[in-house]
Amino acid sequence: MVARTERRLCTTGEPPPYPVSERARALHAGLWVADLHADSLLWGRDLLDRADRGHVDVPRLIEGNVALQVLAATTKSPRHLDIERNDDRSDDVILLALALGWPPATWRRLLPRALHMAARADSLADRSDGQFTIIRSRTDLAAYQAARALRPGVTAGLLSIEGAHALDGDPANVEVVADAGFRMMSPSHFFDNAFGGSAHGLVKGGLTGAGREMIGRMEARGMIVDVAHASAATIDDVLAMAARPVVASHTGVRGVADNTRNLTDAHLRGIAATGGVVGIGFWPTACGGDDAAAIARSIGYAVGVAGVEHVALGSDFDGAVGTPFDASGLVRLTDALLDTGLAEDDIARIMGGNAFRLLADVLPDG
Ligand SMILES: [Zn+2]
Repeated sequence: MVARTERRLCTTGEPPPYPVSERARALHAGLWVADLHADSLLWGRDLLDRADRGHVDVPRLIEGNVALQVLAATTKSPRHLDIERNDDRSDDVILLALALGWPPATWRRLLPRALHMAARADSLADRSDGQFTIIRSRTDLAAYQAARALRPGVTAGLLSIEGAHALDGDPANVEVVADAGFRMMSPSHFFDNAFGGSAHGLVKGGLTGAGREMIGRMEARGMIVDVAHASAATIDDVLAMAARPVVASHTGVRGVADNTRNLTDAHLRGIAATGGVVGIGFWPTACGGDDAAAIARSIGYAVGVAGVEHVALGSDFDGAVGTPFDASGLVRLTDALLDTGLAEDDIARIMGGNAFRLLADVLPDG
């Protein structure tokens, strides 16, 4: 049942292989590609095996020359997702938890769901024979970069949480998720919660007192605050209080695709002013189209507003969306960015250089 649902929701415009120009292939082979959001931990696949559904697994990351994939824990998701209005009463993740045999602790509370997904990622790394590493600290990052420079054909993950309802209402649980290895978290996902408003919530308010405490604790632990899915008021509040770089891990820009989920020019500039990055999404409501050229167009717009140092990739692979290619086809985006006339150095920044710089700035020493 889960496999069928994943196949129906996480579609790919074109299956591999992905032919591109010789120039794009050569450029892409030398890039350090990083993607700031995928929901691949949700579907229960063994990510060591290459699948014929969904977008991400270790073989496809390596084939796509992806050096870093942020893997998100989504702990609660309303039925019939609506871009404008959702309440928190329904929950599709419980159906996955039951179908996939997650531990009973995950049936009623959300924190155990996040911890279960972190444990699955740890097990993936342990079983991968060095092909997949989880980055938790600046030390891990430097060691991985040195190792991958010598031995290409490996990849890495960074753990994030999509929606702070995963803390089960208690900001002190930031310490628990930080200890479990999570290094990025968004205040909200599809509904307003105890920490902040969602772009898709009923009230769409700002950060609550608990939300402010959470942001302070996250910054103290070297966790990156992610405003993807946040309401405009919550983004304003985060930007006003952030002392560290802020990201929007997977988003679009209203200048290209004008909807409540996407960032205004003011928010693009505000995120850039913190030293953060904006990950441009690959699905139609984010980028305004269904091909690599549409993603490249949104990237170009974001570069024009936020500056080339502040734009990154935020595919939303495996996030119940359709994307033009899977993780093995990211060279298609390199090709589309070349077509827009961007310089190769700038393409290298956007495709991953900016994300690696951010992690080197923000991660704890470890
Ligand atoms: Zn999302």
